[in-house]
Amino acid sequence: MKETIISNLQAVHQRIKAACALAGRDVQDVQLLLATKTVPPEKIRMAIEAGETLIGENKVQEFRDKHEALKDLRVERHFIGHLQTNKVKDVLKYVSCIQSLDRLPLAQELDKRLQSEGRRLDVFIQVNTSYEESKFGVAPDAVEYLVKQVQAFDTLHIKGLMTIGLLDVEVEKMRPSLSLLREIKTRLGMEHLKLSMGMSQDLELAIAEGSNMVRVGTSIFGNRFLGKEIWNENEIIS
Ligand SMILES: *Cc1c(COP(=O)(O)O)cnc(C)c1O
Repeated sequence: MKETIISNLQAVHQRIKAACALAGRDVQDVQLLLATKTVPPEKIRMAIEAGETLIGENKVQEFRDKHEALKDLRVERHFIGHLQTNKVKDVLKYVSCIQSLDRLPLAQELDKRLQSEGRRLDVFIQVNTSYEESKFGVAPDAVEYLVKQVQAFDTLHIKGLMTIGLLDVEVEKMRPSLSLLREIKTRLGMEHLKLSMGMSQDLELAIAEGSNMVRVGTSIFGNRFLGKEIWNENEIIS
C-alpha cells in the first residue's frame, strides 16, 4: 500500500512537472493539495511522511474523525467542500484556509467566529465556472460583488479563486470552465490571486490555464467509487 501511494505521488508530481514544462511555467508556482475525502488516516499519513505538506477535506466530519490519528503531523489543512453556516465554528478548529467561500452569509458567520477567536483566515472564493446547477460556487458574473463584500471583513484574507470545473469524458470540453477562472482573475485586476483548479482528470489542462494549486485524490489514493457504477458528482461536492 505504501509503495503504491509513493509511486502514485511520484507520477502525479511528474505530471505536474511535465504540464509546467509544456506551459512554460515554473513548477514552484503549482502546489499539490491532497484531496483526502474517504481516505483513511493511515494512507494520509503515508503521503505526508513521503513529503506532502497540504491536505483538503470536503466534510467537517472527516476532519473530526481523522483528527486524533493525524494531529502529530505538520501539514497545512484546507477545507474544500460545501460549508454549511452551522459548521463554521467546528471547521475553524481544523483548518487554516477555506477554499469554498461562495456567499455573503457564510463570510458573515466566519467573520463573527474569527473575531471572537481573535484570528484571521485565508479564503478562496469558489466560483461555479461550469454553470452547472449541481455545483456550488458563486456565479461568474457575481464574483466581483462578492469579492468586494468579503474584502470588507478584516478577518478574511482572499488568497485566491477556486473552481471544480466541468467534469467530462472529453478533456477539451473541460477547458472553458478552467480558462474562465483565469479570465475572472484578470477581470478583477487582482493578478496576485492564486487559482485553485485541476483534479486527477484535468490537472494538465488546469496548469495550462494558470492553476497554482491542483487538488488530487483519485490519482494518489485510488478510486473512491469502486463498485459504484457511475461517477456521482454530488459526492465530490457535498
Ligand atoms: C474530490 C475532490 C477533488 C479531487 O478529485 P479527484 O478526481 O479524486 O482527484 C478535488 N477538489 C474537490 C473540491 C474535491 O471534492
